[in-house]
Amino acid sequence: MATLAARLDGAAPGGAAISLPPQAPRLLRRPLDEATWRARLPRGQVHLIPDRCKGCRMCVEFCPQQVLTLSDAMNAKGYHYPVVAAGKQEACVACGFCSLVCPELAIFAVEVEPAGVSVAPASACHEAQP
Ligand code: SF4
Ligand code: SF4
Repeated sequence: MATLAARLDGAAPGGAAISLPPQAPRLLRRPLDEATWRARLPRGQVHLIPDRCKGCRMCVEFCPQQVLTLSDAMNAKGYHYPVVAAGKQEACVACGFCSLVCPELAIFAVEVEPAGVSVAPASACHEAQP
């Protein structure tokens, strides 16, 4: 997927080319109350049915919080399945994108209490109970 800079650079229809500096910051403006609303973000807990996964990485790529990564382990079908990435144990915001894009209905997240609650295991997603 083209970056914003790549799409804008030289692409102004009928006018002068727009050129962004190569190191343009991703976020140009930040709300003054950012710390307040960040503290109120929902928290999610990711659940996975490993043997349904076919390792397509859709959930990894579409997670806006970069919560997921593919494990080194393989499931029964020989695919690497997603786990919570190191340092991302409390990053899930229960947006549901991972479950929306999963073609195998293998992953989902549920919202949990945000304050003082452990929301994910240290190294891997929870395995959903049948
Ligand atoms: S629910 Fe959203 S934030 Fe949580 S792992 Fe899925 S895509 Fe990422
Ligand atoms: S989107 Fe589904 S099938 Fe693809 S890697 Fe994630 S869990 Fe596995």
